[in-house]
Amino acid sequence: MSSLMSFLRAVIAACLILLPGTPAVAERLSAVARVDPAHSRLEAGRRTIRLDLALSQPVPYKIVTLNDPPRLVVDFHEVNWDGLSRQSLMEGVRRGVTDMRFGAFRPGWSRMVLELDGPWGLTGAALGRDGQTGLSMLRLSLAPIPLPEFIARARNPEEVLWDLPRRAPIEGTPRQRQRGERPLVVVLDPGHGGLDPGAERGGLREANLMLTFARELKEYLLRAGGFEVILTREEDVFVPLENRVSIARAAGADLFLSLHADALADGDASGATVYTLAAEASDAASAALAERHDRADLLAGLDLSSHDDLVAEVLMSMARTETAPRSEKLADALVMGIQARGGQMHKRPRLRADFSVLRSPDIPSVLLELGFMSNDYDLARLRSPSWRAQMADGIVPALKAWGAADAAEAQLLRK
Ligand SMILES: [Zn+2]
Repeated sequence: MSSLMSFLRAVIAACLILLPGTPAVAERLSAVARVDPAHSRLEAGRRTIRLDLALSQPVPYKIVTLNDPPRLVVDFHEVNWDGLSRQSLMEGVRRGVTDMRFGAFRPGWSRMVLELDGPWGLTGAALGRDGQTGLSMLRLSLAPIPLPEFIARARNPEEVLWDLPRRAPIEGTPRQRQRGERPLVVVLDPGHGGLDPGAERGGLREANLMLTFARELKEYLLRAGGFEVILTREEDVFVPLENRVSIARAAGADLFLSLHADALADGDASGATVYTLAAEASDAASAALAERHDRADLLAGLDLSSHDDLVAEVLMSMARTETAPRSEKLADALVMGIQARGGQMHKRPRLRADFSVLRSPDIPSVLLELGFMSNDYDLARLRSPSWRAQMADGIVPALKAWGAADAAEAQLLRK
């Protein structure tokens, strides 16, 4: 686990360096949200503490528990607390929370602190839209946990980190590996959507561009024949990363292709890049990209109650031993296919990073960055129907070729 922690630290360090220039989610949500006191409340009983905070719009937030004295700290980017009263929130609270405070923390950041009467652990944190009021509701829940666990979870305030999403659980039964006797089931995953627009530039959103491309690519695949195609989202809605993986499993996917076109602080980067999963990212930019994608999930809300299951983790790494080389070959095939049709590839077309969406233990999965919205030429290409057709034209035979080679390998293994 220590290597994982040092990896996470490296990711966060890279992210903090890149943050001022990265126009992803944080920037779009950087406007100040106003708290709505009438729809906010705090409840504390013997077994649970619940905080509902009503906000005029979603904001990035991070949560940390600290010891000595035990407290929960929520940082927002950022909230105007005008009108919120400590007294009225604390009214009727007799246990759990002994005191609270909130206010500006440092430029761009607001903080709320709940003083706890003992070791309480976070069991849920979700930021969602309330259908009735239209307000963004941050709902936090806590439950008592043993003191040693609390101490283990409590972090140094100097190291307040973005809580990263949990690993996707294994659900459903893995499908028999395809041997070429049925259509290849392709799950296309248009990145982002809804609350999470992805990269934005010149009034264009990555989420919409990718949905358009996914729909077009689906048509190309169906026209070519030999494919069954499922999209992880059909419209501009938010789909948690974990669900995208579950959709692929439920569909019995033979391969998973996540589609993105992000923006980098370095506006010179251009061309397509194919990513495969790795705990150690190829470089800081790849690490930051993966972290940004995962963070989008957190913004929209995430259940923190499930803990990493060691047994599941071992099973998953065993399954990945077989799947990882198949993903690598899929990525190679895509690079070759796109290049064969004259598509522009990045100077380093094959990279690795720890993308949650690539963590299927048994479905070959790759993430294709079609280009960089931060680059003028790439942005123009992404908008061009003929360029997108050219890309699709390279991807379709690549998936065909990979499917055939993968089936032949499965036949060989069977003998
Ligand atoms: Zn993206």
